[in-house]
Amino acid sequence: MFARLLAAFCLLNLAVVPCRAGSDDPANSELLLYLSGDLPQSLHAVDIMKSELASLMQSAGYRVAWRDSHSKTDSTAATLVVVQLQGACSVPAGSSASDGPAADTKTLASTAVSDDVVLPFSIINCAALSRVVWPSLAQEPGARRDFLYGRAMARLLAHELYHILANTRDHERDGIAKSHFTFTDLLTERFEFEHTTLAKLQRAVPEVVTDTAADAPSGR
Ligand SMILES: [Zn+2]
Repeated sequence: MFARLLAAFCLLNLAVVPCRAGSDDPANSELLLYLSGDLPQSLHAVDIMKSELASLMQSAGYRVAWRDSHSKTDSTAATLVVVQLQGACSVPAGSSASDGPAADTKTLASTAVSDDVVLPFSIINCAALSRVVWPSLAQEPGARRDFLYGRAMARLLAHELYHILANTRDHERDGIAKSHFTFTDLLTERFEFEHTTLAKLQRAVPEVVTDTAADAPSGR
C-alpha cells in the first residue's frame, strides 16, 4: 500500500522576495541555501542531502553552497533560498510503521508564493517524509538508512528549487519536477530531472548583474 502513497506539494504565502544577482554562466551560477528550522537528529542524513542535491542541481547548471540561517548574507550568490527542515529528519532503527511519527499533513515539501512569483522559501516536512519511508527504512542498517533518507530529502528539495528557479507553479510529466512523488520515487536508485526540465532550469539562470541593492530581501 505504501507504493500508493503520494507526496503532495503545495504553495504557501510567506513574505520573502527573491534576491538574484549573479553570473551569466550556468555552470558557475551559485545557488546559496540557508538552512533553518529544527535541528535534525541525523547530521549524516543532512550531509547526504547536501551531497545528493549538489549532484542534482549541477545537472541543471547550478553550484550549491550552504549557510546556516545565522550566517552573514552572501550577496555575491546568484540565487538565495531559505530552506527550513520541520521535525525530525530521521527514522529510528527497528520500529514498526505504527510507531512512526504523526504527521498532520501529507505535504512533504512546499514553497512560498505571492501572486505569480514563487518565493525563495522552502520547507521540507520531515515528519511527513518519515511517515512515508518509515516501513522501508526502519529495518535498514544505520548508515544505509541515513543515506536513503538524505537522498529522499534532496529529491524533495530539488523539486522545490525547480519551482523557485523556473518561477513556476507548473509541473512536468515525469522526473523530479512532476507533481506527486510515489514511495518508489523517494527511494529508488535513480530519480532525476527530465531533460526538458533541465533545459528550462538552464534557461532560468540569472543573466546579468545590474543593481544588487534593488533585489535585496525585504524580510523573512
Ligand atoms: Zn511542485
